[in-house]
Amino acid sequence: MIDWHEVNQTDGTCDECGETIVAGECKRIDGERLCLDCAEARGTDAAELERWLQSVLECVDEDEVPELAECSVRTFTEAGLLTRDRGVVVTLADGSEFQLTIVRSN
Ligand SMILES: [Zn+2]
Repeated sequence: MIDWHEVNQTDGTCDECGETIVAGECKRIDGERLCLDCAEARGTDAAELERWLQSVLECVDEDEVPELAECSVRTFTEAGLLTRDRGVVVTLADGSEFQLTIVRSN
Protein backbone atom coordinates (compact mmCIF):
# COMPACT_ATOMS: atom_id res chain seq x y z
CA MET A 1 0.00 0.00 0.00
CA ILE A 2 1.08 3.56 -0.66
CA ASP A 3 1.29 5.78 2.36
CA TRP A 4 1.52 9.36 1.15
CA HIS A 5 2.13 10.69 4.61
CA GLU A 6 4.90 8.36 5.54
CA VAL A 7 8.04 10.40 6.00
CA ASN A 8 11.36 8.70 6.12
CA GLN A 9 13.31 9.95 9.09
CA THR A 10 16.80 9.21 7.82
CA ASP A 11 18.94 10.71 5.08
CA GLY A 12 19.17 8.74 1.87
CA THR A 13 19.04 8.91 -1.90
CA CYS A 14 16.16 9.13 -4.33
CA ASP A 15 15.45 5.79 -6.01
CA GLU A 16 14.68 7.58 -9.27
CA CYS A 17 17.20 10.40 -9.77
CA GLY A 18 19.81 9.42 -7.17
CA GLU A 19 19.81 12.85 -5.53
CA THR A 20 20.56 13.02 -1.83
CA ILE A 21 17.45 13.32 0.30
CA VAL A 22 17.61 14.83 3.75
CA ALA A 23 15.40 13.39 6.45
CA GLY A 24 11.75 14.25 6.08
CA GLU A 25 12.00 15.51 2.49
CA CYS A 26 10.95 12.40 0.60
CA LYS A 27 7.88 10.41 -0.24
CA ARG A 28 7.47 6.68 -0.42
CA ILE A 29 5.60 5.64 -3.56
CA ASP A 30 5.12 2.08 -4.77
CA GLY A 31 7.75 0.96 -2.29
CA GLU A 32 10.33 3.40 -3.64
CA ARG A 33 11.73 6.38 -1.81
CA LEU A 34 11.58 9.46 -3.99
CA CYS A 35 12.67 13.07 -3.61
CA LEU A 36 9.80 15.54 -3.65
CA ASP A 37 10.46 16.53 -7.29
CA CYS A 38 10.32 12.94 -8.52
CA ALA A 39 7.30 12.21 -6.34
CA GLU A 40 5.47 15.11 -7.95
CA ALA A 41 6.54 14.02 -11.43
CA ARG A 42 5.19 10.54 -10.68
CA GLY A 43 1.72 12.04 -10.48
CA THR A 44 0.32 11.94 -7.00
CA ASP A 45 -3.23 12.69 -8.12
CA ALA A 46 -3.39 9.84 -10.60
CA ALA A 47 -1.92 7.43 -8.07
CA GLU A 48 -4.53 8.33 -5.49
CA LEU A 49 -7.26 8.09 -8.11
CA GLU A 50 -5.97 4.66 -9.06
CA ARG A 51 -6.34 3.39 -5.51
CA TRP A 52 -9.77 4.96 -5.26
CA LEU A 53 -10.88 3.34 -8.53
CA GLN A 54 -9.63 -0.02 -7.30
CA SER A 55 -11.48 0.20 -4.00
CA VAL A 56 -14.70 1.35 -5.68
CA LEU A 57 -14.65 -1.45 -8.24
CA GLU A 58 -13.94 -4.04 -5.56
CA CYS A 59 -16.94 -2.85 -3.58
CA VAL A 60 -19.51 -2.83 -6.39
CA ASP A 61 -22.75 -4.48 -5.31
CA GLU A 62 -22.83 -7.77 -7.20
CA ASP A 63 -26.64 -7.77 -7.17
CA GLU A 64 -26.70 -4.43 -8.99
CA VAL A 65 -23.89 -5.20 -11.43
CA PRO A 66 -23.72 -8.98 -11.88
CA GLU A 67 -21.10 -8.52 -14.63
CA LEU A 68 -18.65 -7.48 -11.94
CA ALA A 69 -19.35 -10.39 -9.62
CA GLU A 70 -16.13 -11.98 -8.45
CA CYS A 71 -14.03 -9.62 -10.53
CA SER A 72 -10.44 -9.00 -9.58
CA VAL A 73 -9.05 -5.47 -9.65
CA ARG A 74 -5.33 -4.80 -9.63
CA THR A 75 -3.51 -1.53 -10.09
CA PHE A 76 -1.09 -1.35 -13.03
CA THR A 77 1.71 -1.47 -10.48
CA GLU A 78 0.36 -4.62 -8.83
CA ALA A 79 -0.18 -6.22 -12.24
CA GLY A 80 3.44 -5.51 -13.15
CA LEU A 81 2.59 -3.51 -16.26
CA LEU A 82 5.60 -1.83 -17.83
CA THR A 83 4.06 1.59 -18.13
CA ARG A 84 4.25 4.91 -16.36
CA ASP A 85 0.50 5.30 -16.79
CA ARG A 86 -1.82 4.78 -13.89
CA GLY A 87 -4.91 2.66 -13.95
CA VAL A 88 -6.43 -0.65 -12.99
CA VAL A 89 -6.69 -4.08 -14.60
CA VAL A 90 -10.15 -5.61 -14.17
CA THR A 91 -10.43 -9.37 -14.62
CA LEU A 92 -14.00 -10.65 -14.83
CA ALA A 93 -15.24 -14.04 -13.68
CA ASP A 94 -15.27 -15.35 -17.28
CA GLY A 95 -11.58 -14.54 -17.62
CA SER A 96 -11.92 -11.48 -19.83
CA GLU A 97 -9.63 -8.68 -18.83
CA PHE A 98 -9.84 -4.90 -19.24
CA GLN A 99 -7.37 -2.12 -18.58
CA LEU A 100 -8.73 1.21 -17.39
CA THR A 101 -6.10 3.86 -17.88
CA ILE A 102 -6.33 7.14 -16.00
CA VAL A 103 -5.58 9.99 -18.39
CA ARG A 104 -5.23 13.42 -16.91
CA SER A 105 -6.91 15.90 -19.22
CA ASN A 106 -6.53 19.14 -17.31
ZN1 LIG B 1 14.46 12.24 -7.33
